[in-house]
Amino acid sequence: MRHSQPWGQLCPHIQCAQYNLRIQGNVSIIATYRTQSGRRRMCQCRTCLTIVAETRDTAIFDQQMAEEYVMMTLKMLLVWVDFAGISFVLGVTEETELTWCTRAAQKAMEVKAHWLRALPATQVQLNEL
Ligand SMILES: [Zn+2]
Repeated sequence: MRHSQPWGQLCPHIQCAQYNLRIQGNVSIIATYRTQSGRRRMCQCRTCLTIVAETRDTAIFDQQMAEEYVMMTLKMLLVWVDFAGISFVLGVTEETELTWCTRAAQKAMEVKAHWLRALPATQVQLNEL
């Protein structure tokens, strides 16, 4: 019998004892599925049994478009291509671009907060940074 592997994901269920705690060993890969952008994994928290896609809360979660379109959009935004220009080139709506951008910005803030938490600095020093 095949056993699931522990994975470094966090449990997204707010009522779980392991909620939002990283690398606790409670989230395991239980299945994989194919998308047009490749293989994706489904994970399960062994504490509360919540099942979650590995792409949850990312810009590519639950999208009809291939992941490369999301990444191209985000890269074009970084070099100041406007939403209308991206819409013309890729054939996606500006509303979709805004959704991808918002999700990517949220994840970037989470990553930034995580790394700043690990810095041995005071709040005043962080504010100056
Ligand atoms: Zn859980």
